[in-house]
Amino acid sequence: MSIAENLEKIKAELGNEVTLVAVSKYSTDEEVMKAYDAGHRDFGENKAQDLKRRADELPKDIRWHFIGHLQRNKVKYIADYIHMIHAVDSLKLLKEINKRAKNADRKIPCLLQMHIASESSKFGLDRDEIISIVSDDSLAELENLAITGLMGMATNTDNTEMIRGEFKTLKGLFDEINTMDTPAKVRMETLSMGMSNDYQIALEEGTNSVRIGSAIFKEE
Ligand SMILES: *Cc1c(COP(=O)(O)O)cnc(C)c1O
Repeated sequence: MSIAENLEKIKAELGNEVTLVAVSKYSTDEEVMKAYDAGHRDFGENKAQDLKRRADELPKDIRWHFIGHLQRNKVKYIADYIHMIHAVDSLKLLKEINKRAKNADRKIPCLLQMHIASESSKFGLDRDEIISIVSDDSLAELENLAITGLMGMATNTDNTEMIRGEFKTLKGLFDEINTMDTPAKVRMETLSMGMSNDYQIALEEGTNSVRIGSAIFKEE
């Protein structure tokens, strides 16, 4: 199947309520443009410099999502145009994003990454750390960002019940924060969970934003 056919098939499965972020980190510009020409506009990258080059060179109406671990000293490369930052894992990083967003005269939507996988190699915060950030008084000063949801990566395993349990944990916290009395800039709108191997499970568990790379860009 071609990239356009892969996109069409996955979009049909997702329906209209779920955002599909096409993860282009392993793809060429030519492949990105095939997806673009098929009408796709949301793309994700996990390296700030790669993202900056693509944002400079590819069409300006692409909505770029930063999906990887973001170092504070890299925020400056993406603050001018980034549509959403999916994997924020500290208040310090939020403060840097706010500073750079302010310089760019923008407001950047950010998701907090929860560590839901059993692999310790994956990044992210635990439940208490997330609750502590969304309740933090200093958020009020961060006028150039909003915390608009949560993101998580499940364990890389064939054990679908394990993956399902991890997604349930993330969705549970998302719903819980929604019922909390948090500052206005904390709004649980985007639940970013699901990749090529597990997006069908994520759909069943209530995702509304999936990050899919290989299942789109693998032409067979
Ligand atoms: C690479 C990556 C994806 C996409 O992975 P696929 O298995 O190719 O769909 C999704 N999310 C993050 C954070 C990634 O780094």
